[in-house]
Amino acid sequence: MWLQEKMPRLDNDERAEVNQENLDRIFTIPESSGATLARIEQEISSNIDGFLREHIVAEEKSMPEIEADFSSVEITEQPFYVQAYTDFILKHLVAQSVHTSSPGFIGHMSSALPYFMLPLSKIITALNQNMVKVETSKAFTPMERQVLGMLHGLIYERDDAFYQQWLHSPDHALGAFCSGGTVANITALWVARNRCMNEGTISKSGLHGAMQEAGIKGLVVLVSRRGHYSLLKAVDLLGLGRDNLITIETDEQNKVNVQAMREKAEALREQGYRIMSLVGIAGTTETGNVDPLEEIAALSKELKCHFHVDGAWGGPTLFSEKYKSLLKGIELADSVTIDAHKQFYVPMGAGMVLFKDPESLQSIELHAEYIIRRGSRDLGQQSLEGSRPGMALLVHAGLNIIGRKGYEMLIDQGIEKAKHFAQMIDEHDDFELLIHPELNIMGYRFAPKWIQECLQKTDRDSVNWINEKLDLINKNIQKAQREQGKTFVSRTRIGMEKYNGAELIYFRVILANPLTRKGDLTAVLEHQLEFARHELAQEILTEIKQRCH
Ligand SMILES: *Cc1c(COP(=O)(O)O)cnc(C)c1O
Repeated sequence: MWLQEKMPRLDNDERAEVNQENLDRIFTIPESSGATLARIEQEISSNIDGFLREHIVAEEKSMPEIEADFSSVEITEQPFYVQAYTDFILKHLVAQSVHTSSPGFIGHMSSALPYFMLPLSKIITALNQNMVKVETSKAFTPMERQVLGMLHGLIYERDDAFYQQWLHSPDHALGAFCSGGTVANITALWVARNRCMNEGTISKSGLHGAMQEAGIKGLVVLVSRRGHYSLLKAVDLLGLGRDNLITIETDEQNKVNVQAMREKAEALREQGYRIMSLVGIAGTTETGNVDPLEEIAALSKELKCHFHVDGAWGGPTLFSEKYKSLLKGIELADSVTIDAHKQFYVPMGAGMVLFKDPESLQSIELHAEYIIRRGSRDLGQQSLEGSRPGMALLVHAGLNIIGRKGYEMLIDQGIEKAKHFAQMIDEHDDFELLIHPELNIMGYRFAPKWIQECLQKTDRDSVNWINEKLDLINKNIQKAQREQGKTFVSRTRIGMEKYNGAELIYFRVILANPLTRKGDLTAVLEHQLEFARHELAQEILTEIKQRCH
């Protein structure tokens, strides 16, 4: 166990006195020899170090037990000592957290981080810069603009003169740095909305006024049915309404059917709607597939509407010489979302949206005299969020310390690992490959070969009946695996062309953790088979066998 010491609970005998001296003390940085700070830092680092080395996903402690540690809503009258508090947190919070860096944790988009993120992130907290205005950030502002320029260059590859002209121009922005993909997508669609209407009217009188003025029935956004749920939040917030995010069917590779998109767009136009934006996905969250971006770009040109690419997950594939062609057409997008806290290996709270045109963000610009003045370099003029931390530092660090070649290796290895795992599944007698990896996301389920064969031969009713039974087994396997805490895959449910569009539960696997080795993949399957041997699963398999004969 990495947690060596016996940790106390926070209780009544460890209270500090509230007085001027103690308050002054907690806001004063102790001398470098400061014994308290050094001891606490030492204790936290060795504890975290142990946590990160442990190759499990989570301790086997139930949620109700953990909730009991956090159930009092009383705010303490008499405060605790830092030491006592730290001890409590190490035992009850850190020890019961999820080891997202564990090599067997291959179910979500969070992964191990490069070690240098830890000491460098301390700078952000220590300096407490606010990116909203130069007066509270100074050098952090040009640094963030440089990061946005680097990402803009990765996508749009404009020449030096372009970046010299726009990178630090007070009235322009190559993009907006924000807390993640959700805010990035909202920002992109906000810009699209304002630019497709009379900007003055829509900002002042709102959507209703602008629509009356334009004489249109509504604004719509079109995206594949694999679009991320953040787009629903965006159309809701922007006043379009969730019904006006129009989802388009996909092919068997989960790529949007552009012909269907065109027909839908034309039909909507005839009914009096204006197409606000088409959205293409570069790496869907559930399946990792990339839409035909070039074709969508051509369609948006025909329709004269905004083209946004949601590359929150797949954007960094552009680093790979071998695989970047999968994203062909992304350079034609008016805006692109990229999450840094996913495949840039930056801790959570870092997303970006890049705009082809350095004037785009002017459509959402807002000024306030005391803070974000016209003509200033304040990043807050063109951003949805107000106060914002200097997270761009960590993206800057990754781009400099990992570099193009480093990210290329990480991307290539992830995709190759996914292909390897897919092959393992394909050759295995007990599993069925359902989502073939295009990037580093794939999907499969527990379904012994004899069931797969039976599904090919039997009638439609039986197929649905068997799939429902398999859903039950797979759901239980995933839950048991998560509760055991040794390895982890996520589960989701989507319509599969292979089974006439019927929705199936499958294991979703994301191979982005550089620590994951082939042996870890074998372990994931072994753990799943352990649960498949349990009584309930065996009973269901017997039922299926009867139906198959
Ligand atoms: C993760 C993701 C998002 C949302 O990003 P957050 O950082 O979670 O807000 C949007 N789109 C896609 C395709 C994603 O994978």
